[in-house]
Amino acid sequence: MRRKLIKGGYVLSMDERIGSGLLTVLIDGARIEDVSAGLDTPDAEVIDATGCIVIPGLVNAHMHTWQTALRGIAANWTLPQYFRSVHAGLATLFSPDDIHIGTLVGALNQLNSGTTTLGDWCHNNQTPAHTDRAIDGLIESGIRSVFFHGSPKPDPRPGEKHFSEVPHPRGEVERLLKDRFANDDALVTLGMAILGPHYSTYDVAVQDFQLAREYGLVASMHCAGLEAKTPDGWERLAAEGLLDARTNVVHGNNLSDVQLQMMLERGVTFSIAPETEMQQGHGHPITGRLRDAGHAPSLGVDLESSIAGDMFTVARMALASQRALDNAASRASLGHLPATSTLSCDDALQWITLRGAEALGLADRIGSLTPGKEADVVLVRADTISMRPLHDPVAAIVLQASPANVDTVLVAGEYRKRHGELTYAALGRRLDELDASGRRIAGGLSQLLGSH
Ligand SMILES: [Zn+2]
Repeated sequence: MRRKLIKGGYVLSMDERIGSGLLTVLIDGARIEDVSAGLDTPDAEVIDATGCIVIPGLVNAHMHTWQTALRGIAANWTLPQYFRSVHAGLATLFSPDDIHIGTLVGALNQLNSGTTTLGDWCHNNQTPAHTDRAIDGLIESGIRSVFFHGSPKPDPRPGEKHFSEVPHPRGEVERLLKDRFANDDALVTLGMAILGPHYSTYDVAVQDFQLAREYGLVASMHCAGLEAKTPDGWERLAAEGLLDARTNVVHGNNLSDVQLQMMLERGVTFSIAPETEMQQGHGHPITGRLRDAGHAPSLGVDLESSIAGDMFTVARMALASQRALDNAASRASLGHLPATSTLSCDDALQWITLRGAEALGLADRIGSLTPGKEADVVLVRADTISMRPLHDPVAAIVLQASPANVDTVLVAGEYRKRHGELTYAALGRRLDELDASGRRIAGGLSQLLGSH
């Protein structure tokens, strides 16, 4: 049936004009038609949301989905270990089919966890075939995503340039736009995962920014961790007018307050991966620094090779890490705790919905249950042992929910999960393929590290 009516649930619309409450969501095809109280229509399939909290699909703004078959491998590694062992090591062992199965299962796990939009930051595109198989995996999963196309980062062979000196391949961007992303309204669209001034020479950064601008693509780049390749790059890019709302910076821990302010004034968005940053050594997540400047982050899992893939945990990590910093700062400066909590669960829910949509350049299409937006909707079961009694639906989502509570997931009005089960038919076979891929690649680890 073309229309669906989600009734009986507690709706957190994330649209301030609509608000929250016992509302009904009417979906017509791929879009939300109405969100209001007491809605009814005879010609719609009714989705009974009794006992559920109804939320916009979550947005995971930054994840290297190709690493799904490496789950847990980087769990105890710092950033230098990760670079050496993954980027200069294991990544080189991936075939196009390895990229495909990791991307497919990783994206399905996102859907299973209530994420309907994924910023898939794919930086192991060794050949066009790797790229095509990654995109195939995203499309096959049924998730909405921005496929951020990036280059691999192996050690250079004799006679080759270091990756920081190599501009983004224009021919690949143009091929992808022509052959794979001809339709801007498709579920999977293109972005550029560039090196940016932290990881490239200035000349490369400028060329990559200009290429992204030429085609109107979001340019996303890491900034943190190791020493910056071009420390004054942000100021120089700003002077050339190249920073804007389609510039997405991941992490940002090393930026000065002056740099942060300058970038925010130009509309630059920030995606934080709190758990990875704390584990690997990027520095404290900049959640509070963005807040102090009147802004807010989007959030991402970053690495399933290290941590769990669900956005509930990511939001919780971001909230707890910043509360800990704020409490410690207050104790240090005032000798006592803040009078009230410095960040709320409402803030955290915005990070994984509206702010994620903005970072991916999709704010007009997703991020809230707003009539006219895409029908990306999630029903979270709150009538469970882990969530009853339900006093505060926002707190329940941010602090108590897990993927096990995700009952129903709709992307553009189509079921991806229903009654707690993914609708994807061949999951068992795909998991076996992921196991085989992971075993084969991990088998190369001891050889690459020269150990036994
Ligand atoms: Zn990353």
